[in-house]
Amino acid sequence: MERQTVRFVDIVGLHNGNNGRSCERHEVCGRELKKNDLLLLRKCIVEVDGKPQGAIAAIQILNGQLGCRVGFIGRHMLKRVDQNILVQVTELYDESELLQDRQRSYKNCGMALCCVLQNQNFQ
Ligand SMILES: [Zn+2]
Repeated sequence: MERQTVRFVDIVGLHNGNNGRSCERHEVCGRELKKNDLLLLRKCIVEVDGKPQGAIAAIQILNGQLGCRVGFIGRHMLKRVDQNILVQVTELYDESELLQDRQRSYKNCGMALCCVLQNQNFQ
């Protein structure tokens, strides 16, 4: 069965520093994320309430190199999204003019809408 093509993904948890989302340069790496930034989606294991769980992390690409882990794919999309694909930040919900978007971002600890790049030839 062919996988349904996903064109947009939600990245959540940008304002949390746990589960690898902080480094020696940033207390919370996802706070540095800007519109048009590139991210690589990659499978990982995180701890949720003390239990290991599969997740897909979003890792920022800076100057052609893998940088900080900034967030995770929204749980509702986990089964529909491939790992090792490149996405680009289309919108930071915090900066939206719509109150409901900003509320949604708050609820999800910082949220970004990203589009899946069409040419994925780098693999
Ligand atoms: Zn960082």
